[in-house]
Amino acid sequence: MKNYRNETLAIRIQNERSQEAEHSVPLYLTSSYVFEDAEQMRAAFSDEIEANIYSRYSNPNVDELLEKVACLESGEAAWATATGMAAVFTTFAALLQSEDHIVSSKSVFGSTHQLFVNILPKWGITTTYVDAIDYEGYEREIKPETKIVYIETPSNPGLDIIDIKRLAAICIAKNVLLVVDNCFATPVLQQPLKLGADIVIHSATKYMDGQGRVLGGLIVSTKEIIAKIQGFARHSGPALSPFNAWILSKSLETLHLRMEKHCSQAFEIAKRLEGNESVDWVKYPFLDSHPQQVIAKDQMEYGGGIVTFQIKGGLEAGRKFLDQLGLFSLTPNLGDSRSIATHPASTTHSKLKSEEREAVGISDGLVRLSIGLENIEDIWEDIEMALR
Ligand SMILES: *Cc1c(COP(=O)(O)O)cnc(C)c1O
Repeated sequence: MKNYRNETLAIRIQNERSQEAEHSVPLYLTSSYVFEDAEQMRAAFSDEIEANIYSRYSNPNVDELLEKVACLESGEAAWATATGMAAVFTTFAALLQSEDHIVSSKSVFGSTHQLFVNILPKWGITTTYVDAIDYEGYEREIKPETKIVYIETPSNPGLDIIDIKRLAAICIAKNVLLVVDNCFATPVLQQPLKLGADIVIHSATKYMDGQGRVLGGLIVSTKEIIAKIQGFARHSGPALSPFNAWILSKSLETLHLRMEKHCSQAFEIAKRLEGNESVDWVKYPFLDSHPQQVIAKDQMEYGGGIVTFQIKGGLEAGRKFLDQLGLFSLTPNLGDSRSIATHPASTTHSKLKSEEREAVGISDGLVRLSIGLENIEDIWEDIEMALR
């Protein structure tokens, strides 16, 4: 399989057929696996033979997904978890211990922020935040006890682009692991491991499923690091269900096709929004007006499926805009075939004061659009009508 290109691998990596010779991969809904005799069971338990034992450890549907994702991300091995957050937590729990320290971009997913601030400190693991693109900041905050530098790029919802190669060079020099949450980009847009990162994390819930059906998480890295992750996960139990793995593996067959469309439509919407009189500014990685456009074009294949913009009129205008939309779904997910709009100031970040929101890059009029796969003119007409 290794000589095929990624679009082909995403379709053709498949479980071995059973006696029924299925063309489409069957679903292995089983909690455990049977052995021929006591000797075979002994050998399996002592890792002398490769065999499925119990679905918390391995399952053919999960294995198929892991092989695909490791190929797509150019990694040696992968591990799957029940959710994206389980992938984030498993990575920290497997690789860190009390007194260890993390340096993180301050623009991270809300629950990841909660882990850093409220949960990991219970076990003596602390985190220091730096601005997403403050490279001197990362370098300065890496201490002898720092084990991980953690980033998301493009960031959410600011869409800042972090130069992965540049940050990887700093991490290599300081001997710390660079962990990249690649959820917004997917391996179709960027492959952080090729740019020098050590570990890639995914919420497969987003673009990988792409149809808002299941939750899932993935970790891709070297065999050595995945062995440590596996050692932790086997006994702590964040396993991905076979059904969700089956869905996700099927979804990957169309990931390239979907991402091209999400991205071309998002780029077009971003350009049209820039010309609209109700809009203060638009942020999209491939627009000329994006401060890190050069880095974005260098490390990403396309600009992504998310567009953020500031509507004139602040908080009230943002709320009104959401209420006027007809086609867009109002839901916190993203990366779905259906277009989705969110207004962080009146929803996810409504408990913060206006100044506190500004400090994390969320202005009162900021709207985030996850551009779906519907007809582009239908998407645009909905936005334009709501803006009017
Ligand atoms: C959604 C998301 C997560 C968490 O994933 P779940 O599957 O919801 O647990 C982590 N990181 C990013 C960037 C996300 O968008």
